Amino acid sequence: MSKGPQRIRGTQDIWGEEADRFARVVETFDRVRRLYAFQRIELPVFEATEVFARSIGETTDIVSKEMYTFPDRGGDSLTLRPEFTAGICRAYLSEGWQQHAPIRLATHGPVFRYERPQKGRFRQFHQLDAEIIGTDSPLADVELLVLADQLLHQLGISEGVTLQLNTLGDAPTRDAWRAALVSHFEAHRSELSEDSLVRLAKNPLRILDSKDPRDRPAVDSAPSIDEFLTPEASAFFARVTAGLNVADVSWTRNPRLVRGLDYYRHTAFEFVTDRLGAQGTVLAGGRYDGLIEGLGGPHTPAVGWAAGIERLAMMLTPPPALPPAIDVPVVVMPVGDAAEATAIRVATAVRRRGFATEIYTRGNLKKRLARASERLVSTAIIIGDDELEAGQATVRHLRIQQQDRIPFDRIVEQLWPTGDE
Ligand code: ATP
Ligand code: MG
Repeated sequence: MSKGPQRIRGTQDIWGEEADRFARVVETFDRVRRLYAFQRIELPVFEATEVFARSIGETTDIVSKEMYTFPDRGGDSLTLRPEFTAGICRAYLSEGWQQHAPIRLATHGPVFRYERPQKGRFRQFHQLDAEIIGTDSPLADVELLVLADQLLHQLGISEGVTLQLNTLGDAPTRDAWRAALVSHFEAHRSELSEDSLVRLAKNPLRILDSKDPRDRPAVDSAPSIDEFLTPEASAFFARVTAGLNVADVSWTRNPRLVRGLDYYRHTAFEFVTDRLGAQGTVLAGGRYDGLIEGLGGPHTPAVGWAAGIERLAMMLTPPPALPPAIDVPVVVMPVGDAAEATAIRVATAVRRRGFATEIYTRGNLKKRLARASERLVSTAIIIGDDELEAGQATVRHLRIQQQDRIPFDRIVEQLWPTGDE
Protein backbone atom coordinates (compact mmCIF):
# COMPACT_ATOMS: atom_id res chain seq x y z
CA MET A 1 0.00 0.00 0.00
CA SER A 2 1.34 3.44 -0.93
CA LYS A 3 2.00 5.74 2.00
CA GLY A 4 1.40 8.86 -0.09
CA PRO A 5 3.71 11.85 -0.33
CA GLN A 6 6.51 12.17 2.22
CA ARG A 7 7.71 15.34 3.87
CA ILE A 8 10.64 17.22 2.33
CA ARG A 9 14.08 16.29 3.67
CA GLY A 10 15.12 18.57 6.53
CA THR A 11 11.54 19.56 7.44
CA GLN A 12 9.62 18.36 10.47
CA ASP A 13 6.12 17.28 11.43
CA ILE A 14 6.02 18.18 15.10
CA TRP A 15 3.46 16.40 17.23
CA GLY A 16 2.64 15.29 20.78
CA GLU A 17 5.27 15.72 23.46
CA GLU A 18 7.66 17.43 21.04
CA ALA A 19 4.99 19.96 20.09
CA ASP A 20 4.38 20.63 23.80
CA ARG A 21 8.06 21.41 24.31
CA PHE A 22 8.07 23.67 21.27
CA ALA A 23 5.05 25.55 22.62
CA ARG A 24 6.69 25.89 26.04
CA VAL A 25 9.71 27.59 24.47
CA VAL A 26 7.51 30.04 22.57
CA GLU A 27 5.28 30.79 25.58
CA THR A 28 8.25 31.38 27.85
CA PHE A 29 9.84 33.72 25.30
CA ASP A 30 6.58 35.64 25.03
CA ARG A 31 6.42 36.07 28.80
CA VAL A 32 10.03 37.16 29.17
CA ARG A 33 10.03 39.58 26.21
CA ARG A 34 7.10 41.41 27.85
CA LEU A 35 9.16 41.82 31.03
CA TYR A 36 11.74 43.66 28.95
CA ALA A 37 9.12 45.69 27.04
CA PHE A 38 9.74 44.18 23.60
CA GLN A 39 6.88 44.65 21.12
CA ARG A 40 5.63 41.67 19.13
CA ILE A 41 5.78 41.95 15.31
CA GLU A 42 4.79 39.67 12.40
CA LEU A 43 6.66 39.71 9.09
CA PRO A 44 6.53 38.00 5.69
CA VAL A 45 8.26 34.65 5.26
CA PHE A 46 9.79 35.77 1.96
CA GLU A 47 11.49 38.95 0.80
CA ALA A 48 13.19 40.25 -2.33
CA THR A 49 16.45 38.30 -2.59
CA GLU A 50 18.56 41.46 -2.38
CA VAL A 51 17.28 42.14 1.17
CA PHE A 52 19.35 39.17 2.35
CA ALA A 53 22.16 39.29 -0.21
CA ARG A 54 22.97 42.93 0.57
CA SER A 55 22.87 42.60 4.37
CA ILE A 56 24.07 39.13 5.31
CA GLY A 57 27.01 39.25 2.88
CA GLU A 58 27.57 37.60 -0.50
CA THR A 59 30.47 35.45 0.72
CA THR A 60 28.76 34.03 3.81
CA ASP A 61 27.64 30.39 3.78
CA ILE A 62 24.04 31.51 4.11
CA VAL A 63 24.00 33.67 0.97
CA SER A 64 26.46 31.67 -1.12
CA LYS A 65 24.90 28.23 -0.64
CA GLU A 66 22.03 27.99 1.87
CA MET A 67 19.24 30.26 0.59
CA TYR A 68 15.97 29.05 -0.92
CA THR A 69 15.83 31.49 -3.83
CA PHE A 70 13.31 31.28 -6.66
CA PRO A 71 11.73 33.45 -9.34
CA ASP A 72 8.02 34.08 -8.70
CA ARG A 73 5.50 34.00 -11.53
CA GLY A 74 6.17 37.66 -12.26
CA GLY A 75 9.89 36.97 -12.67
CA ASP A 76 11.05 38.65 -9.44
CA SER A 77 13.74 36.88 -7.43
CA LEU A 78 12.39 36.00 -3.98
CA THR A 79 14.05 34.23 -1.05
CA LEU A 80 12.53 32.39 1.90
CA ARG A 81 13.97 34.14 4.95
CA PRO A 82 17.13 32.43 6.25
CA GLU A 83 17.01 34.65 9.38
CA PHE A 84 14.90 37.49 10.77
CA THR A 85 17.20 40.49 11.14
CA ALA A 86 17.42 41.56 7.50
CA GLY A 87 13.63 41.47 7.05
CA ILE A 88 13.08 43.40 10.28
CA CYS A 89 15.48 46.10 9.07
CA ARG A 90 13.73 46.21 5.69
CA ALA A 91 10.42 46.73 7.53
CA TYR A 92 12.00 49.35 9.80
CA LEU A 93 12.82 51.36 6.68
CA SER A 94 9.80 50.65 4.49
CA GLU A 95 7.21 51.06 7.27
CA GLY A 96 8.73 54.22 8.72
CA TRP A 97 9.38 52.70 12.15
CA GLN A 98 12.28 55.17 12.48
CA GLN A 99 9.89 57.61 14.13
CA HIS A 100 9.59 55.21 17.09
CA ALA A 101 13.34 54.68 17.53
CA PRO A 102 14.79 53.21 19.60
CA ILE A 103 12.39 50.29 19.26
CA ARG A 104 12.49 46.89 20.90
CA LEU A 105 11.02 44.14 18.72
CA ALA A 106 10.38 40.43 19.17
CA THR A 107 9.09 37.74 16.86
CA HIS A 108 9.33 34.03 16.15
CA GLY A 109 8.60 31.70 13.26
CA PRO A 110 10.03 29.46 10.53
CA VAL A 111 13.30 30.18 8.74
CA PHE A 112 14.83 28.25 5.83
CA ARG A 113 18.38 27.19 4.99
CA TYR A 114 19.54 24.56 2.54
CA GLU A 115 21.89 22.68 4.90
CA ARG A 116 22.79 19.04 5.42
CA PRO A 117 20.07 17.76 7.79
CA GLN A 118 21.24 16.16 11.04
CA LYS A 119 20.36 16.25 14.74
CA GLY A 120 19.54 19.86 15.62
CA ARG A 121 19.99 21.02 12.02
CA PHE A 122 17.04 21.32 9.66
CA ARG A 123 16.17 23.01 6.37
CA GLN A 124 13.03 24.53 7.82
CA PHE A 125 13.66 25.37 11.45
CA HIS A 126 12.26 27.95 13.82
CA GLN A 127 13.77 30.89 15.62
CA LEU A 128 12.98 33.25 18.45
CA ASP A 129 14.24 36.73 17.64
CA ALA A 130 14.79 39.91 19.65
CA GLU A 131 16.16 43.21 18.33
CA ILE A 132 16.73 46.78 19.56
CA ILE A 133 16.99 49.21 16.66
CA GLY A 134 18.08 52.83 16.73
CA THR A 135 20.48 53.11 19.64
CA ASP A 136 24.26 52.96 19.94
CA SER A 137 24.14 52.58 23.72
CA PRO A 138 25.97 49.53 25.11
CA LEU A 139 23.05 49.28 27.54
CA ALA A 140 20.99 47.86 24.65
CA ASP A 141 23.56 45.07 24.19
CA VAL A 142 23.43 44.41 27.93
CA GLU A 143 19.62 44.29 28.00
CA LEU A 144 19.48 41.79 25.15
CA LEU A 145 22.03 39.55 26.83
CA VAL A 146 20.27 39.70 30.19
CA LEU A 147 16.98 38.92 28.44
CA ALA A 148 18.58 35.88 26.80
CA ASP A 149 20.02 34.75 30.12
CA GLN A 150 16.64 35.08 31.86
CA LEU A 151 14.95 33.14 29.06
CA LEU A 152 17.37 30.22 29.51
CA HIS A 153 16.84 30.30 33.28
CA GLN A 154 13.06 30.34 33.00
CA LEU A 155 13.20 27.42 30.61
CA GLY A 156 15.31 25.62 33.23
CA ILE A 157 18.15 24.94 30.78
CA SER A 158 20.81 27.44 31.84
CA GLU A 159 22.90 24.70 33.48
CA GLY A 160 25.91 23.93 31.28
CA VAL A 161 25.25 26.79 28.86
CA THR A 162 28.02 29.39 28.58
CA LEU A 163 27.84 32.85 27.11
CA GLN A 164 30.80 33.35 24.81
CA LEU A 165 31.40 36.99 24.16
CA ASN A 166 33.60 38.90 21.76
CA THR A 167 34.01 42.33 20.27
CA LEU A 168 34.54 42.82 16.56
CA GLY A 169 35.47 46.44 17.16
CA ASP A 170 34.63 49.49 15.09
CA ALA A 171 35.59 50.17 11.45
CA PRO A 172 39.24 51.21 12.07
CA THR A 173 39.71 48.20 14.37
CA ARG A 174 38.34 45.84 11.77
CA ASP A 175 40.41 47.29 8.94
CA ALA A 176 43.62 46.89 10.91
CA TRP A 177 42.68 43.39 12.11
CA ARG A 178 41.66 42.35 8.63
CA ALA A 179 45.03 43.43 7.19
CA ALA A 180 46.85 41.45 9.89
CA LEU A 181 44.67 38.38 9.22
CA VAL A 182 45.36 38.57 5.49
CA SER A 183 49.12 38.57 5.97
CA HIS A 184 48.86 35.78 8.56
CA PHE A 185 46.73 33.53 6.35
CA GLU A 186 48.83 34.36 3.25
CA ALA A 187 51.80 33.00 5.17
CA HIS A 188 49.80 29.81 5.94
CA ARG A 189 48.18 29.37 2.49
CA SER A 190 49.37 25.80 2.10
CA GLU A 191 47.56 24.71 5.29
CA LEU A 192 44.15 26.14 4.34
CA SER A 193 41.11 24.30 2.93
CA GLU A 194 39.91 25.18 -0.58
CA ASP A 195 36.93 27.07 0.86
CA SER A 196 39.19 29.15 3.05
CA LEU A 197 41.46 30.03 0.12
CA VAL A 198 38.39 31.54 -1.54
CA ARG A 199 37.52 33.32 1.73
CA LEU A 200 41.06 34.68 1.92
CA ALA A 201 40.55 36.48 -1.37
CA LYS A 202 37.04 37.70 -0.65
CA ASN A 203 36.42 37.87 3.08
CA PRO A 204 39.32 36.74 5.31
CA LEU A 205 37.40 37.11 8.61
CA ARG A 206 35.20 34.24 7.48
CA ILE A 207 38.15 31.84 7.81
CA LEU A 208 37.88 32.20 11.59
CA ASP A 209 34.35 30.77 11.35
CA SER A 210 35.43 27.75 9.28
CA LYS A 211 34.16 24.38 10.48
CA ASP A 212 36.81 22.52 8.41
CA PRO A 213 39.34 20.88 10.79
CA ARG A 214 42.15 21.50 8.29
CA ASP A 215 41.83 25.23 8.97
CA ARG A 216 42.19 24.82 12.74
CA PRO A 217 45.97 25.30 13.19
CA ALA A 218 46.09 28.47 11.08
CA VAL A 219 43.00 29.82 12.84
CA ASP A 220 44.39 29.06 16.29
CA SER A 221 47.62 30.94 15.60
CA ALA A 222 45.89 33.93 13.96
CA PRO A 223 46.36 37.39 15.49
CA SER A 224 43.77 38.38 18.08
CA ILE A 225 41.57 41.42 17.58
CA ASP A 226 42.70 42.75 20.97
CA GLU A 227 45.96 44.04 19.48
CA PHE A 228 43.99 46.31 17.14
CA LEU A 229 41.12 47.62 19.27
CA THR A 230 40.81 51.40 19.21
CA PRO A 231 40.26 53.11 22.59
CA GLU A 232 36.62 53.72 21.58
CA ALA A 233 36.03 50.07 20.73
CA SER A 234 37.67 48.96 24.00
CA ALA A 235 35.57 51.39 26.00
CA PHE A 236 32.36 50.16 24.37
CA PHE A 237 33.19 46.55 25.13
CA ALA A 238 34.12 47.44 28.72
CA ARG A 239 30.67 48.98 29.26
CA VAL A 240 28.98 45.84 27.93
CA THR A 241 30.96 43.52 30.19
CA ALA A 242 30.51 45.83 33.20
CA GLY A 243 26.73 45.75 32.64
CA LEU A 244 26.72 41.96 32.48
CA ASN A 245 28.69 41.75 35.71
CA VAL A 246 26.28 44.08 37.48
CA ALA A 247 23.35 41.95 36.28
CA ASP A 248 25.13 38.80 37.44
CA VAL A 249 25.25 37.22 33.99
CA SER A 250 28.37 35.10 33.65
CA TRP A 251 30.31 35.14 30.40
CA THR A 252 33.61 34.05 28.93
CA ARG A 253 35.69 35.88 26.38
CA ASN A 254 36.20 34.11 23.07
CA PRO A 255 38.48 36.36 20.98
CA ARG A 256 38.07 34.08 17.92
CA LEU A 257 34.29 34.33 17.81
CA VAL A 258 33.05 35.77 14.53
CA ARG A 259 29.51 35.07 13.39
CA GLY A 260 28.19 33.47 10.22
CA LEU A 261 26.90 36.80 8.94
CA ASP A 262 28.95 39.79 7.85
CA TYR A 263 27.02 42.64 9.39
CA TYR A 264 28.27 42.54 12.98
CA ARG A 265 30.22 45.35 14.69
CA HIS A 266 31.34 45.60 18.32
CA THR A 267 29.47 42.98 20.35
CA ALA A 268 29.16 39.39 19.08
CA PHE A 269 28.03 36.47 21.21
CA GLU A 270 26.84 32.89 21.33
CA PHE A 271 25.24 30.87 24.12
CA VAL A 272 26.82 27.44 23.74
CA THR A 273 26.11 24.07 25.37
CA ASP A 274 27.90 20.74 25.22
CA ARG A 275 24.57 18.89 25.62
CA LEU A 276 23.59 18.94 21.94
CA GLY A 277 26.70 17.47 20.32
CA ALA A 278 28.01 19.33 17.29
CA GLN A 279 24.99 21.66 17.14
CA GLY A 280 25.84 23.35 20.44
CA THR A 281 24.95 26.98 19.71
CA VAL A 282 21.47 27.66 21.03
CA LEU A 283 21.29 31.45 20.82
CA ALA A 284 23.50 33.93 18.98
CA GLY A 285 23.69 37.53 17.88
CA GLY A 286 25.43 40.84 18.12
CA ARG A 287 25.51 44.48 17.12
CA TYR A 288 24.94 45.36 13.48
CA ASP A 289 25.44 49.12 13.17
CA GLY A 290 26.12 48.97 9.41
CA LEU A 291 23.23 46.82 8.22
CA ILE A 292 20.50 49.39 7.70
CA GLU A 293 22.89 51.68 5.83
CA GLY A 294 23.71 48.70 3.62
CA LEU A 295 20.02 48.40 2.76
CA GLY A 296 20.01 52.03 1.63
CA GLY A 297 18.75 53.61 4.87
CA PRO A 298 20.33 56.20 7.16
CA HIS A 299 23.06 55.19 9.61
CA THR A 300 21.15 53.26 12.31
CA PRO A 301 22.87 51.41 15.13
CA ALA A 302 21.13 48.22 16.26
CA VAL A 303 21.68 44.97 18.13
CA GLY A 304 19.83 41.65 18.32
CA TRP A 305 19.86 37.88 18.63
CA ALA A 306 18.15 34.75 17.39
CA ALA A 307 17.73 31.37 19.06
CA GLY A 308 16.87 28.00 17.53
CA ILE A 309 13.54 26.84 19.00
CA GLU A 310 14.25 23.17 18.20
CA ARG A 311 17.61 23.29 19.98
CA LEU A 312 16.09 24.95 23.05
CA ALA A 313 13.20 22.45 23.04
CA MET A 314 15.62 19.50 22.83
CA MET A 315 17.25 20.68 26.05
CA LEU A 316 14.04 20.84 28.10
CA THR A 317 14.12 18.04 30.61
CA PRO A 318 11.17 15.76 29.95
CA PRO A 319 8.53 15.69 32.71
CA PRO A 320 8.57 12.44 34.77
CA ALA A 321 5.54 10.94 33.05
CA LEU A 322 4.34 11.66 29.55
CA PRO A 323 1.72 14.37 29.93
CA PRO A 324 -1.45 14.12 27.89
CA ALA A 325 -0.82 15.96 24.64
CA ILE A 326 -4.09 17.82 25.09
CA ASP A 327 -5.20 19.03 28.47
CA VAL A 328 -8.96 18.54 28.51
CA PRO A 329 -10.73 18.25 31.88
CA VAL A 330 -14.14 17.32 30.45
CA VAL A 331 -15.35 15.15 27.59
CA VAL A 332 -18.85 14.80 26.20
CA MET A 333 -19.98 11.34 25.04
CA PRO A 334 -23.12 11.18 22.88
CA VAL A 335 -24.36 7.61 22.43
CA GLY A 336 -26.44 7.27 19.27
CA ASP A 337 -27.15 9.83 16.55
CA ALA A 338 -30.10 11.34 18.43
CA ALA A 339 -27.76 12.62 21.15
CA GLU A 340 -25.54 14.56 18.77
CA ALA A 341 -27.35 17.90 18.87
CA THR A 342 -27.49 17.90 22.68
CA ALA A 343 -23.79 17.00 22.83
CA ILE A 344 -22.91 20.00 20.66
CA ARG A 345 -25.10 22.25 22.85
CA VAL A 346 -23.48 21.03 26.10
CA ALA A 347 -19.91 21.17 24.75
CA THR A 348 -20.45 24.71 23.49
CA ALA A 349 -21.74 25.81 26.90
CA VAL A 350 -18.68 24.29 28.61
CA ARG A 351 -16.30 26.11 26.24
CA ARG A 352 -18.15 29.39 26.61
CA ARG A 353 -17.64 29.01 30.35
CA GLY A 354 -13.90 28.83 29.63
CA PHE A 355 -13.17 25.10 29.95
CA ALA A 356 -11.66 22.87 27.30
CA THR A 357 -13.75 19.94 26.16
CA GLU A 358 -13.78 17.35 23.43
CA ILE A 359 -16.69 15.28 22.07
CA TYR A 360 -15.91 11.55 21.90
CA THR A 361 -18.08 9.81 19.31
CA ARG A 362 -16.12 6.68 18.41
CA GLY A 363 -16.29 3.24 20.00
CA ASN A 364 -18.58 1.82 22.68
CA LEU A 365 -19.00 3.65 25.96
CA LYS A 366 -16.55 1.42 27.80
CA LYS A 367 -13.82 2.16 25.27
CA ARG A 368 -14.49 5.87 25.40
CA LEU A 369 -14.31 5.92 29.20
CA ALA A 370 -11.03 4.01 29.11
CA ARG A 371 -9.59 6.51 26.64
CA ALA A 372 -10.75 9.40 28.84
CA SER A 373 -9.12 7.89 31.94
CA GLU A 374 -5.88 7.34 30.04
CA ARG A 375 -5.83 11.00 29.15
CA LEU A 376 -6.48 12.09 32.74
CA VAL A 377 -9.90 13.56 31.92
CA SER A 378 -11.75 14.25 35.17
CA THR A 379 -15.38 14.41 34.03
CA ALA A 380 -17.35 12.53 31.37
CA ILE A 381 -20.77 13.87 30.34
CA ILE A 382 -22.71 10.93 28.92
CA ILE A 383 -25.79 11.47 26.75
CA GLY A 384 -27.70 8.38 25.53
CA ASP A 385 -31.35 7.51 24.87
CA ASP A 386 -32.21 7.31 28.61
CA GLU A 387 -30.63 10.66 29.23
CA LEU A 388 -32.45 12.28 26.31
CA GLU A 389 -35.74 10.91 27.57
CA ALA A 390 -35.10 12.22 31.11
CA GLY A 391 -33.61 15.54 29.93
CA GLN A 392 -30.63 14.84 32.16
CA ALA A 393 -27.04 13.86 31.39
CA THR A 394 -25.09 11.27 33.32
CA VAL A 395 -22.07 13.12 34.69
CA ARG A 396 -19.34 10.71 35.74
CA HIS A 397 -16.44 11.93 37.89
CA LEU A 398 -13.70 9.62 36.69
CA ARG A 399 -11.18 10.19 39.47
CA ILE A 400 -13.57 9.35 42.31
CA GLN A 401 -15.78 6.90 40.41
CA GLN A 402 -19.05 8.64 41.25
CA GLN A 403 -21.82 9.86 39.04
CA ASP A 404 -24.76 12.29 39.10
CA ARG A 405 -27.70 13.03 36.84
CA ILE A 406 -27.87 16.70 35.90
CA PRO A 407 -30.44 18.46 33.65
CA PHE A 408 -28.75 19.49 30.39
CA ASP A 409 -29.17 23.22 30.95
CA ARG A 410 -27.82 23.05 34.54
CA ILE A 411 -24.58 21.17 33.81
CA VAL A 412 -22.29 24.17 33.54
CA GLU A 413 -23.68 25.86 36.68
CA GLN A 414 -23.39 22.70 38.71
CA LEU A 415 -19.88 21.81 37.61
CA TRP A 416 -18.50 25.35 37.88
CA PRO A 417 -20.73 27.27 40.29
CA THR A 418 -20.07 30.99 40.51
CA GLY A 419 -20.62 32.94 43.73
CA ASP A 420 -24.20 34.03 43.09
CA GLU A 421 -25.65 30.71 41.93
P1 ATP B 1 25.44 27.02 13.28
O1 ATP B 1 26.82 27.44 13.63
O2 ATP B 1 24.90 25.94 14.17
O3 ATP B 1 25.23 26.76 11.81
P2 ATP B 1 24.54 29.70 12.82
O4 ATP B 1 25.69 30.53 13.25
O5 ATP B 1 24.37 29.44 11.37
O6 ATP B 1 24.54 28.31 13.62
P3 ATP B 1 22.59 31.73 13.38
O7 ATP B 1 22.51 32.18 11.99
O8 ATP B 1 23.27 32.58 14.37
O9 ATP B 1 23.21 30.25 13.43
O10 ATP B 1 21.13 31.36 13.91
C1 ATP B 1 20.77 31.49 15.28
C2 ATP B 1 20.38 30.17 15.89
O11 ATP B 1 19.50 29.43 15.06
C3 ATP B 1 21.54 29.21 16.10
O12 ATP B 1 22.21 29.53 17.28
C4 ATP B 1 20.83 27.88 16.21
O13 ATP B 1 20.30 27.69 17.51
C5 ATP B 1 19.70 28.04 15.24
N1 ATP B 1 20.00 27.40 13.95
C6 ATP B 1 20.80 27.86 12.96
N2 ATP B 1 20.78 27.04 11.89
C7 ATP B 1 19.92 26.02 12.21
C8 ATP B 1 19.44 24.85 11.51
N3 ATP B 1 19.82 24.59 10.25
N4 ATP B 1 18.57 24.03 12.15
C9 ATP B 1 18.16 24.31 13.41
N5 ATP B 1 18.56 25.38 14.12
C10 ATP B 1 19.43 26.24 13.53
MG1 MG C 1 24.92 27.90 10.06
